[in-house]
Amino acid sequence: NNQIILAERPEGMPDKNTFQFVKKDLENVKDGQVLIKTLYVSVDPYMRGRMENVESYVEPFKLHQVIEGGSIGEVLESKSDQYKAGDVVMGMFGWQTYYVAGENEVRQIDLSIAPITTNLHILGMTGLTAYFGLLDIGKPKAGETVVISGAAGSVGSTVGQIAKIKGARVVGIAGSDEKINFLKEELNFDEGINYRTTDDIKADLQRACPDGVDVYFDNVGGEISDAVMTELNRNARVPVCGAISSYNKEEQDIGLRVQQILIKKSALMQGFTIGNYSDRFKEGAKQLGKWLQEGELTYRETIREGFENIPEAFLDLFRGKNIGKLLVKIGEQ
Ligand code: NDP
Repeated sequence: NNQIILAERPEGMPDKNTFQFVKKDLENVKDGQVLIKTLYVSVDPYMRGRMENVESYVEPFKLHQVIEGGSIGEVLESKSDQYKAGDVVMGMFGWQTYYVAGENEVRQIDLSIAPITTNLHILGMTGLTAYFGLLDIGKPKAGETVVISGAAGSVGSTVGQIAKIKGARVVGIAGSDEKINFLKEELNFDEGINYRTTDDIKADLQRACPDGVDVYFDNVGGEISDAVMTELNRNARVPVCGAISSYNKEEQDIGLRVQQILIKKSALMQGFTIGNYSDRFKEGAKQLGKWLQEGELTYRETIREGFENIPEAFLDLFRGKNIGKLLVKIGEQ
C-alpha cells in the first residue's frame, strides 16, 4: 500500500519536505471491514489548516500519519453485510492507494444520480458549503447583487449558479481570463473581474455592481475582500467561507478594519463551517441533485492523474491552477 504522510509541519507554503511517500503492508480484512482500492482523492484548501498544530474545527493531521481527506474507492473484498465487491464508496481515507475500512467509516455512492466524482464536490462537501453558506447566511433575493471571490473554484462556481437560480445579479472575482470566460460563458455570471490583471479592483467592482453589493460570499479574504467590503449596501450579508489568501502566510494578515462599514451599513458578517449544517446535509444534497438533474446546475472538474502527483495538485490550489473542483485520479474502476 502506498501512502503519503505528513513528514513535517510546513511554515508558509508547503514543499516537498512536507510530504513523504511510504509503503506499508495492508492489514488483513476482519469481520465488519472492507478492503478498498482508492479511485479518486480530493485535495482541498482546508487541508493546509490541518497541517498546523493548532486547535481548529477539525483535528490537526498527526505527524508521520497518512494525510486524510475525502476520497472515493471501489470495494475489492468485503467482510461486511453492507457492502460487496464492486461497490463504490466514499470516506475520509485520504492519500493512500488501498485502505481497510470499518463498514461505518464509508458510505455507498448512489451511481444512478451523477458521475461518482460529483460526490467529492457539487453533491458533496463543496456543494453543501455553497448551498448553506449562500442560502442560510447570504439569503440572496431576486434582483440583488451577489459578489463571490474565488468564484471559479469548486465552492465559488456553485455559489454563483445558486445565486442565479435565486434571481440575483452575480459578479465573480477570479485569477485568470480563462476563468472569467468560464464564469460568464458557461455559468452565466453577469460580470467577472480578474483580480490579477486589474489596476483598480475598486473601480471594476463599481462598474460591475452599479447598485452596490448585497451579498459578498468570501472565499479568499485579504485585499480582495477589503475592496468588496467598501461596496456593501445597507443590510448586506457577508458569509465568510474561507480566507485562502492567508493560509500560507506566516504573519497575521491585517487588513481593513470593517467595524465602521458594518455599523454604517447595518451589515451582517458571519463565518461558518460546513459541519454546522451536518443535520441538514440530506436536504442540501437532495436539492443540489435535483438542480443538477434538471440542468439548473453544472460543474467543472480539473482532474490530475497519478498518485505521485497528489502533493503538487494540492499546491496548485494555492497557485490557482484549477477551474472548478481539483481531484486526483489514482486508480481505475
Ligand atoms: P477552490 O476550488 O476555490 O480552489 C482554490 C482557489 O483559490 C484557486 O483556484 C485560486 O483561484 C484561489 N486562490 C488561491 N490563492 C489565492 C489568493 N492568494 N488570493 C485569491 N484567490 C486565491 O477551492 P474550494 O472551492 O475547495 O474552497 C474555496 C474556499 O472555501 C477556500 O477558502 C476554502 O478554505 C473554503 N471552504 C470553506 C468551507 C467551510 O466549511 N467554511 C468548506 C470548503 C471550503 P484564482 O485563480 O481565482 O486565484
